[in-house]
Amino acid sequence: MAGLTSAIYAVRAGRSVLVLEREGIGGQIATSPKVENYPAAASISGAELSDRLFEQATSLGAELDFGDVTSVEKTETGFVAHTEDGDFEARSVIIASGVHHRKLGTPREEELFGRGVSYCAVCDGAFYKGKRVAVVGGGNTALSAAVFLAGICAEVTLIHRRDEFRAERYLVEQVKKLENVRIVTPATVEELLGEDKLSGLRLSNGEELALDGLFVCIGKVPDNAAFSALVDLTEDGFIDAGEDCHTRTEGVFVAGDCRKKEVRQLTTAAADVCVAALGACDYLNRFS
Ligand SMILES: Cc1cc2nc3c(=O)[nH]c(=O)nc-3n(C[C@H](O)[C@H](O)[C@H](O)COP(=O)(O)OP(=O)(O)OC[C@H]3O[C@@H](n4cnc5c(N)ncnc54)[C@H](O)[C@@H]3O)c2cc1C
Repeated sequence: MAGLTSAIYAVRAGRSVLVLEREGIGGQIATSPKVENYPAAASISGAELSDRLFEQATSLGAELDFGDVTSVEKTETGFVAHTEDGDFEARSVIIASGVHHRKLGTPREEELFGRGVSYCAVCDGAFYKGKRVAVVGGGNTALSAAVFLAGICAEVTLIHRRDEFRAERYLVEQVKKLENVRIVTPATVEELLGEDKLSGLRLSNGEELALDGLFVCIGKVPDNAAFSALVDLTEDGFIDAGEDCHTRTEGVFVAGDCRKKEVRQLTTAAADVCVAALGACDYLNRFS
């Protein structure tokens, strides 16, 4: 999403842009059955949003090529991105490599994704208004999801593999006070129940839960090793850059979920992209 959106900004600023993509157009959002929180798109599938974005970027003149960037190197004239299919030169680089959600690893998880299994409470919580859901995880994301879902859903079960939560204390206290949140620890999800859609869970403690939705909040995994020669990475592997989206290498910018930040959504990715793309254009104006 961030790659194509940055192309829109840079192309409209008169620059030629190549987007390198290793999997599919649109990134994570292309896998979402429904998006209802993107401004001016009341309800749209992630696939359609991605198609529209692709159409908008390429009709303005951006190019897209498929390739897995394995490393980026600084040269005398700019940068070169290496892929298995060849090298691509550029005078400035915007890294928008995103993240993927850590999976439970339970059988049928992929099959039931979008049919009761979700990885984003803010994105999909509203689809479970008045229903019974469970959240898996013990960090800030999981506990924030439990608080968020408790305001929408009838019942929330918070499942964590340890007795202690990693989340900040105030969040743990907040969750414990919520009447419609039940905490089940220590427990892991052993089996996802249901035919065409999720109908429940079987836990490692033998309990069977009847459910409408399951929110898996056990972390987002970045994949930024290919860029480590040019950028600083946090302990978790996110690219360390502030709101100006500059990395430690002049001419290299970062946008979207792969950047160190608190909230990872389409709108925050779009905000980064605007800053990063205009930063890249400004860099090119100053140095060419
Ligand atoms: C199921 C789901 C539902 C969601 N629903 C919503 C929602 O309703 N509202 C909302 O605001 N947000 C939602 N989100 C979050 C939103 O999708 C992300 O915040 C947003 O897509 C981030 O965009 P991005 O471009 O930074 O990253 P990504 O979408 O992850 O895109 C990164 C792209 O970079 C490519 N890439 C990575 N490394 C390389 C490499 N080395 N070489 C070449 N290509 C590479 C990847 O293949 C990917 O296509 C949802 C996420 C998911 C998974």
